[in-house]
Amino acid sequence: MAIERTFSIIKPDATRRNITGKVLSYLEAAGLRVIAQKRIHMTKEQAEGFYAVHKERPFFSDLVTFMTSGPVVVQVLEGEDAIAKNREVMGATNPANAAAGTIRKDFAESIEANSVHGSDAPETAKQEIAYFFKEEEIVG
Ligand code: UDP
Repeated sequence: MAIERTFSIIKPDATRRNITGKVLSYLEAAGLRVIAQKRIHMTKEQAEGFYAVHKERPFFSDLVTFMTSGPVVVQVLEGEDAIAKNREVMGATNPANAAAGTIRKDFAESIEANSVHGSDAPETAKQEIAYFFKEEEIVG
């Protein structure tokens, strides 16, 4: 298995409840290492661009409103098989379907306010990292 990088967001429902540390502890326990991190408040344009792939979906406008409703923590995570490992510890998109011990099972409020984002493939990981981070901000 290769060392990979993936992109993660701790979403506004988690910053609002002040549980970013709790969420991070699940990521670290899964073998993921934070090699870049910053707290930002996304603009509408940033959120729309980030979720452009979903722009025809019925939930798009509400999702952009949610993602800009408060600060988020954007992260680059590194580790063996990091993309799949992160998706596993995140749990299913809908917390009602998320497995025990996952972040979304334990913390998500709803299918929308589901506490974390994680890239789903190497190509999206690369694009998403570059969307928020300059190479010199990443310290591996
Ligand atoms: N989402 C939503 N309603 C839905 C499906 C998704 O609000 O019916 C939101 C949710 O916050 C999710 C994000 O849109 O995390 C992106 O959806 P995707 O299907 O890519 O899920 P993910 O990869 O985040 O599990």
